[in-house]
Amino acid sequence: VDAHVSYQATEDLGLCQMPQSPSCLSHDNRARLSSLPLDGSLTFSNTSSAASDFGLIRFSEPSAVVHPKSVSDIEAVVHAVLRDTRSGLTLAAKGRGHSVHGQAQALNGVVIEMSSLKGIKVAPHGEPGCSQPFVDAAGGELWIDVLKETLKEGLAPRSWTDYLYLSIGGTLSNAGIGGQTFLFGPEISNVLQLDVVTGTGHSVKCSPLNNPDLFHGVLGGLGQFGIITNARIVLEPAHEKVRWIRAMYTDFATFTRDQELLVSEPPESAFDYIEGFVVLKNEDPNNGWNSVPFDGKKINPSMIPEEGGSVLYYIEVVKKFSSNDVVSLGETVERMLAPLSFIPTLVFTTDVPYEKFLNRLHDVEVSLTSQGLWDVPHPWLNLFVPRSSIASFDALIFKHMIKDDFTGPILIYPLKRERWDSRSSAVIPDESIFYLVAFLRISFPASGPLLSSLIAENDKIMEVCHNAKLGCKMYLPEYEDLDSWKLHFGERWEAFARRKHKYDPDFILAPGQNIFPRIQ
Ligand code: FAD
Repeated sequence: VDAHVSYQATEDLGLCQMPQSPSCLSHDNRARLSSLPLDGSLTFSNTSSAASDFGLIRFSEPSAVVHPKSVSDIEAVVHAVLRDTRSGLTLAAKGRGHSVHGQAQALNGVVIEMSSLKGIKVAPHGEPGCSQPFVDAAGGELWIDVLKETLKEGLAPRSWTDYLYLSIGGTLSNAGIGGQTFLFGPEISNVLQLDVVTGTGHSVKCSPLNNPDLFHGVLGGLGQFGIITNARIVLEPAHEKVRWIRAMYTDFATFTRDQELLVSEPPESAFDYIEGFVVLKNEDPNNGWNSVPFDGKKINPSMIPEEGGSVLYYIEVVKKFSSNDVVSLGETVERMLAPLSFIPTLVFTTDVPYEKFLNRLHDVEVSLTSQGLWDVPHPWLNLFVPRSSIASFDALIFKHMIKDDFTGPILIYPLKRERWDSRSSAVIPDESIFYLVAFLRISFPASGPLLSSLIAENDKIMEVCHNAKLGCKMYLPEYEDLDSWKLHFGERWEAFARRKHKYDPDFILAPGQNIFPRIQ
């Protein structure tokens, strides 16, 4: 698989840099890094795991990998990298390496494997003066471990991504989006305080009141301003179980109208999670209508209406409950679903423990891993589409460009701008409602289209959106040149660049984002 991907990426696409020899590190830099008195460790030889990521599209091998055990390890490494003024040495924090375009890589530079910096501490009663429960989690900790720890106190974070084996620092450097975002905002809207080692090597505590410019800059800041060593995250009481419902549609306008109706309910009467998906109009158990029912149940094809276009849609909602509520739950959910116009015979329901629901993708990961289908290239494309463009997006992209051989889930669900903090670095469309649309493509090297053609299809989607002036913004963005980044940030570019000059003036951090090449 690796050989094929490397070939694809280098020969067909010209995208990746092939692994470079660690000898690229100058004698001075090597000596400086070797002499650091670290609590953790540093290696110049076992660097290949930091050369790749979940995307398996780009490969940039660093010269050194650090496994920190303390914040002062990270400060020391930043200072050592800063002292290099000649060879352009850079530094990337790596969470789980679940980026798909090399964002946590540093060619010939230093990668800090944040997973070795441990620490999760739950404060169930908050702190003096504020009873809001929270958890302090080190930047390299995974959300799954935060969940397990907080559940011991009957608490849990309230905003989630769909998959929990992601790091705190990696998701907070983007946004962290999921089915609770319409209610509580993305994960970055649920942070009370951060500890950050900036690109000048200083450890700084920041919050909305204390160093707010750094705090807001780092959230959604693509790792450009500092390394998150700790995040204080808001908690809420956890529930025992969830009722999990999927309801299908043939008509896009009805589907989006219902989604928008659901996200506009007042919080106290809304579902606790709302997402949506596009499925192919066929019997494929992975991408077709049979991917919708729970527990491997199948839909009889005669139940699928003939009307509509080439794809189907479904809404996915969840209502949390405890054993005491189970009697009234049925009635409550029925009332909440009553205004919706899904196909009445195509509704599927199951009850599962709360933790199992939040960690639902782990079973998928285990199953795909056992079949050798997890460690394959993932040419993903994630977009934010303004509400005013979503019907055109359906007509131009879903109905036109999504073919029978599409492999991987397609997500589409609405988010509310008011739940995002406009002071953060995250870039979203300028409309009160916008949609997340995620093409989570999987490239099976032994079968299916070439990786290069899947990437070309993503490029085509971007081109169609651009030409039709749909106003889309990329989530988990990846651009090659400064002009594209400026276009991405729009009027927010100046603030982003100003913060870079202030907090990482030598441009050493997160070079894999390809925004600011190191100043030499
Ligand atoms: P990495 O890939 O390691 O790093 C991402 C960026 O952050 C890099 O630039 C890196 O240098 C920087 N960084 C990492 N750690 C730190 C730190 N401590 N301080 C500062 N900068 C840091 N995203 C969603 O929003 N919603 C989803 O539902 C969702 N589902 C996903 C499902 C799967 C299976 C996968 C693979 C990804 C999913 N993602 C989702 C995307 C995910 O949010 C990104 O991959 C994100 O980058 C987190 O991954 P990571 O922790 O491995 O970060």
